[in-house]
Amino acid sequence: MRTRHVERHRTERIGWLRAAVLGADDGIVSTASLVVGVAASHATRGNILVAGVAGLVAGAMSMAAGEYVSVHSQADTEAADFEREREELRTDYKSEVKELTKIYTDRGIEPSLALQVAEQLMAHDALGAHARDELGISETLSARPIQAALASAGSFAVGALLPLLVTAFAPSAGLIPLVSATSLVSLAALGGVAAHAGGAGVGAGALRVTFWGALAMLSTAGVGALFGRVI
Ligand SMILES: [Zn+2]
Repeated sequence: MRTRHVERHRTERIGWLRAAVLGADDGIVSTASLVVGVAASHATRGNILVAGVAGLVAGAMSMAAGEYVSVHSQADTEAADFEREREELRTDYKSEVKELTKIYTDRGIEPSLALQVAEQLMAHDALGAHARDELGISETLSARPIQAALASAGSFAVGALLPLLVTAFAPSAGLIPLVSATSLVSLAALGGVAAHAGGAGVGAGALRVTFWGALAMLSTAGVGALFGRVI
């Protein structure tokens, strides 16, 4: 019993950790690429920082908006399922008892015991029992759009801060290599942490995100250098 309880909490923690790491990855990649691209066009440090801060705010807001909308639609679906379940319990309680009994029997409980359990749980909290065991919705797992939006925006902003801090303090001549190097090292570390948390290979996880980060920075550096020459 103790192991299963700990395991479930660990799974929830991993979920949050991975979302935070992915948000931070996004923040690092998009802001570092922006900074490297603008710097490659020979902009002043002031302009690079303005572009970087605008990128941080825009990215954090779009992450929050995207997360809020997607989690909110999940919350809407859950609320609709709840309403339908409440109606079914009101109009056809007997069938709902049969349904829950079947769920427990399918899970291996002896039929007469399954019926007893279903009846007692429904007598105690019929909607809660059906939500948890039929719909798979529990209090801890229910959709929380605001928390999800804030967590997503926050992790993006934290990730974006790194290349911005390097931009603010790096010597002008070394700005592009320093922003690129510190961002790639952080991406590798975050990629490794996320892979480890998910039980996957640390090396592969680190390599994957570093490769895409490098590709993004190379692309924006190319675009920036091109525009810097033309404009
Ligand atoms: Zn039901």
